[in-house]
Amino acid sequence: MLNKNEIIAESDSIGFHDIGFTSAEPFHDQRRLLESMGDSYEIFKKTGLDLVQGTDPENMLPGAKTIIVLLDNYFNKSYPMPLENNFGRCYLDDDRVTKDGLSIRIKKFRDFLRNHGIESKVPSNLPYRVAAARAGLGNYGKNCLFFSNKAAGKSSFVLPFAILIDHEFEPDKPSGGIGCPEWCRNACVAACPTRALKGDGTIDPKKCISYMTYFGREITPLESREPMGMYVYGCDICQNVCPRNRAWLAREMPINEKVLTKAPDFDLKKLLHMDREYFSAKIYPHMFYMSADSIWKWKMNTARVMGNSLDKKYVPDLIKAFNENDDTRVLGMIAWALGQIGGEESENALREFVMDEKLKNELMRKKNVIG
Ligand code: SF4
Ligand code: SF4
Repeated sequence: MLNKNEIIAESDSIGFHDIGFTSAEPFHDQRRLLESMGDSYEIFKKTGLDLVQGTDPENMLPGAKTIIVLLDNYFNKSYPMPLENNFGRCYLDDDRVTKDGLSIRIKKFRDFLRNHGIESKVPSNLPYRVAAARAGLGNYGKNCLFFSNKAAGKSSFVLPFAILIDHEFEPDKPSGGIGCPEWCRNACVAACPTRALKGDGTIDPKKCISYMTYFGREITPLESREPMGMYVYGCDICQNVCPRNRAWLAREMPINEKVLTKAPDFDLKKLLHMDREYFSAKIYPHMFYMSADSIWKWKMNTARVMGNSLDKKYVPDLIKAFNENDDTRVLGMIAWALGQIGGEESENALREFVMDEKLKNELMRKKNVIG
């Protein structure tokens, strides 16, 4: 029978950045929290995850005795700057669909356990961060992110993975709570452009840019378009301004070659003009919270970002995209983007658009569509 040290040594050799053990007791507090969230909890259901069920490990692995939490540093190689400007870092090398990176390491770890008579399961609805805190791996920030006690320079650039197993191991001493220094004057709360962070370690998820970039069926409201800035998918602002992340952000890192290779596919102009085939082949395998039926949202987000860039180089593409698209949410955002960028070419195009039947109908439906 394996002992804890042998399991820890294996996780090190596979390349995980920290490991902790906790019991498989239910997460009662987390259940109460989710049940008290009302509407806000509904948004998680849209992802298909039953988080309430996930608060009791017994539901996923009857007879579960221990949770092993592996911590992975997802930001130990640098990303091309254009991608960092437009996408949340944690999505840039996400292999949950392609299964060609982290998934291989998790499988290797589970194979090691199985070869030593330990059965395991990795349910995606377990409260990973709460399990990580209970396993002594870190604490929280007022930006609602999990900060490691040890990995990635004690920063929040870590992802925990909770593995249920059917054997008992001595639990590690729990950690948790808010670990922010008193001298930080709530930089994350002040910097959050959409006021999603409440300042007490909680968040209104529906106001978070990450949520707004991939959920919602309507055109982005006028008042959110500028605050959402340059993000097409995800948001890292409250991580970038956090002094607890400064040490790690200051490190020199080699470039992530895998991400560098796919960077041209995420060029804004390509996203604005992409069809379903391009989306399915180049985008969805890496960023999959929106299906091909939501390609309009990708285009609307991209048009918003082009507008916020104030860069005239995007004007011809925005005009071309207006003529390629029928979805009034995309058309409305293109018109708004041209208005933001301004200049003669934009103004001429907007004059023509006002005569466009597609947009006129939308204007009738929603008066503020182009602001
Ligand atoms: S991810 Fe962006 S929008 Fe969401 S809380 Fe952080 S700063 Fe605010
Ligand atoms: S910015 Fe300040 S308050 Fe916010 S998480 Fe970082 S240390 Fe905490």
